[in-house]
Amino acid sequence: MKAIRFHQHGGPEVLKYEDVPDPILRNDQVLVKVKAVALNHLDLFVRQGVPGVPLPQIPGSDVSGDIVEVGEYVTDLTPGNRVLLAPMVYCNHCEFCMHGRQNFCREFGVLGYRYPGGDCELLAVPRQNVFPIPAELTYDEAAATPLVFLTAWHMLVGRAAIQPGQTILVLGAGSGVGSAAIQIGKLWNCRVICTAGDEVKLDKGRELGADYTIDHYKQKISEEVRKITAKQGVDVVLEHVGSATWSESMKSLKPGGAIVTCGATTGGEVNFDIRFLFTRQLSFLGSFMGNMGELHDVLKHVFSGRLKPVVDRSFPLREAAAAHEYLASSKMFGKVILNPEL
Ligand SMILES: [Zn+2]
Repeated sequence: MKAIRFHQHGGPEVLKYEDVPDPILRNDQVLVKVKAVALNHLDLFVRQGVPGVPLPQIPGSDVSGDIVEVGEYVTDLTPGNRVLLAPMVYCNHCEFCMHGRQNFCREFGVLGYRYPGGDCELLAVPRQNVFPIPAELTYDEAAATPLVFLTAWHMLVGRAAIQPGQTILVLGAGSGVGSAAIQIGKLWNCRVICTAGDEVKLDKGRELGADYTIDHYKQKISEEVRKITAKQGVDVVLEHVGSATWSESMKSLKPGGAIVTCGATTGGEVNFDIRFLFTRQLSFLGSFMGNMGELHDVLKHVFSGRLKPVVDRSFPLREAAAAHEYLASSKMFGKVILNPEL
């Protein structure tokens, strides 16, 4: 089959469109013909080099497609089913997995990170990774769903435990996690403030349901939050930007508020006064993807249309390098998709 693969870490130029062996289907697995695969910032980090990535590596975490073959032990799915794939891999027998906390498993990994990914034509995954999708959901929308909706759900519902009536600040409305978080915040009847870097993205943030918007290049986030909330501050800040915004995120919180973070695209080193943390009784919550139960929960809302995957544009699979550059430029609103059939 054809695949995007890199043999060494580096810039987008290390991504090669090449022939690789077809995957060998195990008895407990399902073989999927890939129709669409969505990019994540994880793809950029994995390509640039993070520990634990075997080489050569096929990137790509968010996959949709058609089942072409099922292993002997798989009895409830048949070839032809349209599906999306859970992006995570885990042992499925340790204490954490048995408690439904797969993202604490020692073997926890992500397709395209510690395991072969979906930037290819065929992918074999365990049965539990496979979710049949409704006819109304396109392959691009299905691929745009799992990682960001699961991440945003785990952050807001699992970690920050948002409640109706709370006010939440979502940084980066144009990011995949941001566009998912705005919708999840509204689904939970929260008041949502989002930030973005231009008017077009701010408009789209409002279309997704945001009640207020802040231009994070032209306006100071914490000052705008004070105006919007009558000096109260927000209950929860959804962070994934890191060093560029952390101080503003802290200043935007009301006493007792929480920052929940899943990323640090502008850098991971931050400074803060610990006295501010304890006197205002703030919480800093780390969040990493989510568990399988949460994926089932959030997909129910996507499949019923209450949450909508946001697709920016798609590239042919062979143009993965251009797609990586586009994602790194932050020009997109929503997900960037690779398509093996374009
Ligand atoms: Zn495990």
